[in-house]
Amino acid sequence: MRIGHGYDVHAFSEGDHVMIGGVRIPYARGLAAHSDGDVLLHAISDALLGAAALGDIGRHFPDTDPVNKGIDSRLLLRDVMQKLSARGLSLCNLDATIIAQAPRMAGHIDVMRSRIAQDCGVEVGVVNVKATTTEGLGPMGRGEGIAAHAVVLLQTVDLKEPH
Ligand SMILES: [Zn+2]
Repeated sequence: MRIGHGYDVHAFSEGDHVMIGGVRIPYARGLAAHSDGDVLLHAISDALLGAAALGDIGRHFPDTDPVNKGIDSRLLLRDVMQKLSARGLSLCNLDATIIAQAPRMAGHIDVMRSRIAQDCGVEVGVVNVKATTTEGLGPMGRGEGIAAHAVVLLQTVDLKEPH
């Protein structure tokens, strides 16, 4: 068993939506990023890479590479999962928390879970997503950006096992 933790934060900028957990949520602002700014998928990807001792997404998908400009973070997550399965690692479960004063996440959580499960190639019951405000405290509470934490548990699978 291997555990991994990921954390990410993006500041608000101009825009009309945010991408969180692969879901487009209309909002008066967007998130500043080289990619699509999906803070939740970035935290999850970092947790997965962390559990595999493979560094972080900044190393695998540098923001200096024009290929990654505006990239759909679901592609990054799928790429990370491929790296893990190539090393004989599978996802046992994933738990994540979005920290945002706004927009409201509650109505989008189930779609996020199903998209993340799809990209990770697991049952939706393996994936948990929560959202919280900070009761108005700190930079997230003042609506300066959105943060996300994720923890994952991986297990090694025997690649030599006959199918
Ligand atoms: Zn990010």
